[in-house]
Amino acid sequence: METLKTLYSRHDRSYHDNRYVYPVLSRRAGGISVGINLNPDKGCNFDCVYCQVDRTPSGMRGIDPLHRPTGIPVLLEELNRLVEGISSGRLFSRSPFEAVPEHLRKMADIALSGDGEPTMVPEFLPVLDSLMDFRSHRTGRFRIPIRLITNGTGLFRSSTRQAVRERFFSAGSSQSPQDEIWFKIDAADPESFNRIDRSSIPFDRYWSSVTETLLELPVTIQTMVCEIRDPEAPFDPLGDWRIAMKENIRKLLEQGAQIREWHLYTVARRTPDPSVVPLSSERMECLRQSFQEGIALPIRIFS
Ligand code: SF4
Repeated sequence: METLKTLYSRHDRSYHDNRYVYPVLSRRAGGISVGINLNPDKGCNFDCVYCQVDRTPSGMRGIDPLHRPTGIPVLLEELNRLVEGISSGRLFSRSPFEAVPEHLRKMADIALSGDGEPTMVPEFLPVLDSLMDFRSHRTGRFRIPIRLITNGTGLFRSSTRQAVRERFFSAGSSQSPQDEIWFKIDAADPESFNRIDRSSIPFDRYWSSVTETLLELPVTIQTMVCEIRDPEAPFDPLGDWRIAMKENIRKLLEQGAQIREWHLYTVARRTPDPSVVPLSSERMECLRQSFQEGIALPIRIFS
């Protein structure tokens, strides 16, 4: 039987024959997080050096790399089945979820988080509407937050930003007070951005779009901190990366960015590139403290 520790580290997005919906045990959410994978094709406009989605030829075996329009009725059917499985306890009668302790046997959130970037999928907004509808019909039994976990790039379009704002944060929408956007910022200087996120978006354009977005949307920042042990070009986040991050997050706050919290992570699972390694918990804490001095935000480390 799996232990609680291994269950927390499992982020397997395959569940039975489902195409879109999968359960994971989430420490942060405090129960079962129902994941929605809008990218079964593994499509992403970043190529993060630490990404655990295997896009190597062997990892793409059996994957159709073309984006097929999201089948919303199929997604809702999968969601309904999983929610029933959680509420009836059926999910916990089989491996691996039989190891979940009683107090965590509940649905904790719906997380738009998959094998790529959800906001780049053309059906992103209709899917969001369907999830909100689904949740409203469950209100009373399930008052659960929806979390959008994103690299933010789809929100750089003002129309998408506006639509997300209306759905998540306007009075009168069907939002839950805890609906959240977890917005990834891994680098705040051009060299680190090119090294870590490896996007084709030029850094200056990226950063001005980040600024524009955070002035309009409340977010929790998620930052992945990793070291690259490449003898020819080592990358240590406690150097220039740290200085640029601190300075630019501070500037964002000064400009009026709506940042609720800042979450720091390090690599928890094996990455395709073995030179990418996690930071020790002592170095993570040292980094957190260094950021915290002069930044009036809750800054937390998650493993
Ligand atoms: S944005 Fe997410 S899915 Fe895309 S490459 Fe980076 S870590 Fe992977």
